[in-house]
Amino acid sequence: MTKRAFNFNAGPAALPLEVLQKAQEEFVDFEGAGMSIMEMSHRSSIFEKVNNESQALLTELFQIPNNYKVLFLQGGASTQFAMIPMNLLTPGKVGAYVMTGSWADKALKEAKLIGETAIAGSSEADKFNRIPSLSDIQIPDNAAYLHFTSNETIEGTQYKEFPNAGDVTLISDMSSDILSRPVDISKFGLIYAGAQKNLGPSGVTIVIAREDLVSESPKTIPTMLRYDTHVKNNSLYNTPPSFAIYLVGQMLQWVRSKGGVAAVEQYNRDKTNLIYDLIDGSGGFYRGFADPSSRSTMNITFRIHSEELEKLFVKESEAQGFVGLKGHRSVGGLRASTYNAVPLESCKALAEFMADFQKRNG
Ligand SMILES: *Cc1c(COP(=O)(O)O)cnc(C)c1O
Repeated sequence: MTKRAFNFNAGPAALPLEVLQKAQEEFVDFEGAGMSIMEMSHRSSIFEKVNNESQALLTELFQIPNNYKVLFLQGGASTQFAMIPMNLLTPGKVGAYVMTGSWADKALKEAKLIGETAIAGSSEADKFNRIPSLSDIQIPDNAAYLHFTSNETIEGTQYKEFPNAGDVTLISDMSSDILSRPVDISKFGLIYAGAQKNLGPSGVTIVIAREDLVSESPKTIPTMLRYDTHVKNNSLYNTPPSFAIYLVGQMLQWVRSKGGVAAVEQYNRDKTNLIYDLIDGSGGFYRGFADPSSRSTMNITFRIHSEELEKLFVKESEAQGFVGLKGHRSVGGLRASTYNAVPLESCKALAEFMADFQKRNG
């Protein structure tokens, strides 16, 4: 077998080798059907079972209460930026947004196209290098919901504790940290995530929503953009991304085999501590972008004092089998994305590479 890359891509991102191998095994002939899962009807009993099992596994692992629905949609998390206000931002109400960085900004911009919005908190003055303090969040009286981004993928910041929205519906974009730690789902009205960072391949978006919020959408919304369409049809209103849903199921089985979400959380901490400890112990050679209080366990953003050295870092790392360490163009610097499926071995190798790079260039 060819050597696997040390994959720190931000998304689509690393998948567990075991998952890829299982998919490879089942690829040509799925459960003796004489065809691949991609070639069969999404109305077949075999696919229906895959669809239901993926839902059930997510419900089990993420401890989703039974008054919630799990939906598998298309269009990415970016389509949710619009679907949320279309379905939930009713006239006379405002959508309240916590501004944490690049993705929160995109969510707000879409909502502005649909209805009235308000900024409930922001860390823009600090260039989004931290999450806004929970105590600074101001929710308008007529808020339809409070939307926040649990992990800002580009800046590398993450909520450790979630905002308390009181009676207001709490909505979270968990695209880059879903299933990386246990979450009390009952505090949320709706959670959404593109699968391609922590849950599987691109092509499917997970929506977890309290039933009462999604069982009756306004009649003026196009069919595909209404939550109730997908609730009533068990996410099978039209042709679903069947292979992606299958792979999400495989990924969930992998999480279960690792001991579940709490075990994965510990594993993620062990992985990122290796890198953050190295940054903190580098005597200033490496500088974390995020304030330590807001550091993400999913996206580690850091800089070196000269852009020349950052370029050299990327170049040399690539020559040594590392992938995806260049920071997002809007923030610059370097970024290592350490989602659930990134192995500890990759992080150990990165820490070693970073120490060695400093020794040679410090
Ligand atoms: C990647 C990402 C998105 C966009 O997801 P798409 O599926 O590409 O639309 C949205 N929010 C966050 C936090 C992300 O990390």
